[in-house]
Formats: sequence, structure tokens, C-alpha cells
Amino acid sequence: MPIYDYHCKSCAHPFEALVRTGSVPVCPQCGSTDLQKCVSPLAPAGKIEAIRMAHRRVAAAQGHFDHYSPSDKAKLLQGKKNI
Ligand SMILES: [Zn+2]
Repeated sequence: MPIYDYHCKSCAHPFEALVRTGSVPVCPQCGSTDLQKCVSPLAPAGKIEAIRMAHRRVAAAQGHFDHYSPSDKAKLLQGKKNI
């Protein structure tokens, strides 16, 4: 049975709930079923940032600067030479 993080839209109460297939979780505070499911406990913000940084390092190592404008690209390459 998976545990999910929920955020109640009625009373803003955050809680975790075990959710059986086909069952609807209910806010333990106010009984509302108007809930926001928070994704995902498996990928906390810090981890996502780490993944993003790793991707950036790979892109930089391979010389991908597609997301920079031509002038920024020139600046970056200039900066690289000065290091
Ligand atoms: Zn609530």
C-alpha cells in the first residue's frame, strides 16, 4: 500500500495517507476530500537539483550551449579560456 503526501485544499492541513486502490483519502482534520496530492516523496527537491546539476555538468563537458544566446555563448567560451 503506497503512502502519499496530501495537502488539504479546505483547511490547508498537510498529512500522509495510506491509499488503497479505489479508495479516496480524507483529510483527518476537517474530513474534506478536496485534496492535493503532493508528488513525489521519492524525488525530494534537493535530489532534483542534484540531477539537474549533473545534467548541466554533462552538457557543459560536451560543449552544449544550446540554451544560451550567441552573445552569452561567446562570453562563456571567453570565460573558459581565462580559467
Ligand atoms: Zn482539511
